[in-house]
Amino acid sequence: MATCPRCKGHLTDSHKCPRRRTIVAAEIAASALAGGFAGLLLLAVFDPREQITGVESILVVGAGALVCIGITRAARG
Ligand SMILES: [Zn+2]
Repeated sequence: MATCPRCKGHLTDSHKCPRRRTIVAAEIAASALAGGFAGLLLLAVFDPREQITGVESILVVGAGALVCIGITRAARG
């Protein structure tokens, strides 16, 4: 049976290359960035006078990143 030039797996009609770790990691990083950015936007909308302290804003950005990673992973199954 022919083998896939990319993943060396059996090249059947329904062949799909398994997702690479680096791509998965890149997707997680991208979703974390998106979530962090969303957190920043939320801060800008709900805290226009910047009354939230630096530590709290880091928590908001971090929470946004984690939530976005969770959504991405859940959507992937
Ligand atoms: Zn393949």
